[in-house]
Amino acid sequence: MSALVTRFAPSPNGFLHLGHAFSALTAWDAARAADGRFLLRLEDIDGGRARTELEAAIFEDLAWLGVAWEAPVRRQSEHFGEYALALARLDDAGLLYPCFCTRREIEEALRAPHGPTGGAYPGTCRRLDPPTRAAAVASGRPFARRLDLALALSRTGPLAFEESARRVVVDPTRLHAEIGDVVLARKDVPASYHLAVVHDDALQGVTVVIRGEDLAFATPLHRVLQALLDLPTPSYRHHRLLTDASGKRFAKRDGAATLRALRAAGVTPAEVRARVELARSG
Ligand code: GLU
Repeated sequence: MSALVTRFAPSPNGFLHLGHAFSALTAWDAARAADGRFLLRLEDIDGGRARTELEAAIFEDLAWLGVAWEAPVRRQSEHFGEYALALARLDDAGLLYPCFCTRREIEEALRAPHGPTGGAYPGTCRRLDPPTRAAAVASGRPFARRLDLALALSRTGPLAFEESARRVVVDPTRLHAEIGDVVLARKDVPASYHLAVVHDDALQGVTVVIRGEDLAFATPLHRVLQALLDLPTPSYRHHRLLTDASGKRFAKRDGAATLRALRAAGVTPAEVRARVELARSG
């Protein structure tokens, strides 16, 4: 067995569709080709949306596709204590600040005529003076925790990672514009996708992250978090997304593209694989 370890990390908040099959098979094929390991992780920190009964469906659909994963499957919702430790470490280093803004306030700030043009958080709560901040915390108002990205980058210095065998240098300007002071712990959930994914990929010894290109924008941020938390950096392969006949990517709402609907309609795993391979080569 080689040292390659990869994973498929769906969120159990809908049935797997053809887009998931593409990701899962791409990671599975890479593991098999390298005689490596393939892990399955359930990214279910979103308790409101993640549904336990969908887990069984995920296992069933993946097994039907011919994918085999190692046990035990990691469920992120069982590890909030670990994410809290990672968060505390960033907090102790002075890299987090509480954010009391509502989604609406953020949207309005971003629409302001002289406000920032990008989609990143405008930094409102970063600029709160210490007494105001302390009073807001003491009042019991719910808050999220955001990373002070500029401070974080000043600590890490220049960073790079490997994407599909190419070295990519993290571009701070782009990171500020595209992600900015990201939420690492939400108001309703004491973690976030970014924190949990970086923590877990390191903990599980993942050496190659294989996932859709819709998540490529997050990789520079993940690299920053790895540096701040002293975690190893895997290499990355972001694959293109499978699209339907009209060029639209598959989404949860496309019931007809779920693996169970296809199975019920008599489609075979071999046909799903053929479609994936055609998309890969096209
Ligand atoms: N859980 C994420 C999703 O469902 C994938 C995370 C990842 O592969 O990094 O899209």
